[in-house]
Amino acid sequence: MANQIDTQTKICGLLGYPIGHSVSPLIHNELAARCGQNLVYLPLQVEADRLGDAVKGADAWNFLGMNVTIPYKEAIIEHLKEIDPVARQIGACNTLVRIEGGYKGYNTDAPGLYRAMQEEGVDVYGANAVILGAGGVAKAIAYMLATHEVGRLWILNRTKDKAQALAEEVNGFVGRDVACGLSMQEYASIEADRLLVIQATSIGMSPKSGVAVIDDPAFYQKIAVGVDVIYNPQETRFMQLVKEAGGKTMNGLKMLLYQGIIAYELWNGIQVPEKDAMEIYQLMQKNL
Ligand code: NAP
Repeated sequence: MANQIDTQTKICGLLGYPIGHSVSPLIHNELAARCGQNLVYLPLQVEADRLGDAVKGADAWNFLGMNVTIPYKEAIIEHLKEIDPVARQIGACNTLVRIEGGYKGYNTDAPGLYRAMQEEGVDVYGANAVILGAGGVAKAIAYMLATHEVGRLWILNRTKDKAQALAEEVNGFVGRDVACGLSMQEYASIEADRLLVIQATSIGMSPKSGVAVIDDPAFYQKIAVGVDVIYNPQETRFMQLVKEAGGKTMNGLKMLLYQGIIAYELWNGIQVPEKDAMEIYQLMQKNL
């Protein structure tokens, strides 16, 4: 947070409803302090019928940028002046950047995961990848994997139609048949090993932790790296099963960190030093 609030202080914030516990103010106010910027980041709880008014108000007050969280990642789009092509394709924005006459929407969730995986030495290029889930986050991740030239991509979801529709959309976007949509029960039909599996359902999240969408140990034998987008608990049942079968794991906390850092970089036109990123990551771990 800015050391001193004055007429030059830039304002950013988080739009959502309800905004209970969020680590975003911690991430951004720490970034401002460490990068020596006169910027403050606020939680901005807004009710659904006032979302458009909130964006207009932010524009009138010259807010530099905003993050958008549940339940507005899709609904925000109609209130934007411009939208990044990938965010348009995904149909969801989590970051707004001030431009002439309003805000431009981006999706930094999947780039955040990509940067987190790079930081952990997890390679996407040419990998045999599986996404568990076909909801909002899974969709962003599917585009990220396909555009980073994953080898093959299986999308598994409880509602099979959604997995198939997402696979078709992604194939159309990248112009090659990389993705295939299956129901969650069809995991045994994946004929590949050394899999990179990204758990992107809400199953296993606190307080209903201790469960995973797939229990079969045979599935976990095929996994080289298991990434869970959930970060609370820090080790999910999915991660435990991957570990027990000898695979490497990571949770979603670094994804959360980097989606915030990428937003901060878009707002301020700077590159956040890795040392600051890692120190903030440690603070986030303590604050969970
Ligand atoms: P969403 O759009 O509501 O999607 C939920 C997904 O979970 C869908 O695929 C849904 O399947 C599946 N699911 C829900 N209940 C299920 C059940 N009982 N059995 C099997 N599958 C079930 O949610 P989202 O926004 O994508 O978020 C998903 C997770 O990502 C959440 O835990 C969220 O906290 C986490 N997240 C993490 C970050 C990060 O930075 N680390 C960022 C955003 C979100 P159906 O399609 O069949 O309903």
